[in-house]
Amino acid sequence: KSFEELRLDPRLIRALTKKGIEKPTPIQQTAIPFILEGKDVVAKAKTGSGKTLAYLLPLLQKLFSDCGSKKKKPAPSAFILVPSRELCQQVYAEVSSLIELCRVQIKAVQLTSSMPLSDMRNALAGLPEILVTTPACIPKCFADGVLDPAAINLLLSYGYEDNLRSVASIVPRRCQCLLMSATTSSDVEKLKKLFLHNPVVLTL
Ligand code: AMP
Repeated sequence: KSFEELRLDPRLIRALTKKGIEKPTPIQQTAIPFILEGKDVVAKAKTGSGKTLAYLLPLLQKLFSDCGSKKKKPAPSAFILVPSRELCQQVYAEVSSLIELCRVQIKAVQLTSSMPLSDMRNALAGLPEILVTTPACIPKCFADGVLDPAAINLLLSYGYEDNLRSVASIVPRRCQCLLMSATTSSDVEKLKKLFLHNPVVLTL
């Protein structure tokens, strides 16, 4: 299947072409339609499989439809948790470059645990649609109203973390949850109980 056949927005396809990406990887072919449909997804995929774009592309496409509306939506809509600061930087760079290439009014920020609370508040004051952070940052993100959990429409994690328990209990029920996991099945089981609703499980 091609990116066109996956019904990706032409702006995203053009952005991918500029990056020299022509054809979806197996994980992208399988995960993108389910994510666009709004399904919860558990994808067990290795590094190098293209799993970052497998969730970033449909996530951005979902946000495109909100872009035109004048009324600024509460933020952030997408809460992306990655296991390390390095990966946080990488995912943030990837999503920022796609946003730039698509020329859309979508804002992404990254928060790391070393950031002072005041800087976090400033970053979130711009109402970014996308927040990329690490589980270590969760307590700060939700400390007295830094971030409104009611705004979150999509939650993505790479694995199980004790800190996720507190998030799972405050995000809205309708929140779409994705797990991009290279972790053990016991972690997946824990996460299923915690926040995944009848997820599609993909092993690739
Ligand atoms: P990841 O598994 O997300 O860490 O991606 C590994 C690398 O594959 C990254 O450098 C991506 O830019 C690249 N990549 C992702 N999707 C594709 C694709 N469909 N075709 C070629 N390269 C890709």
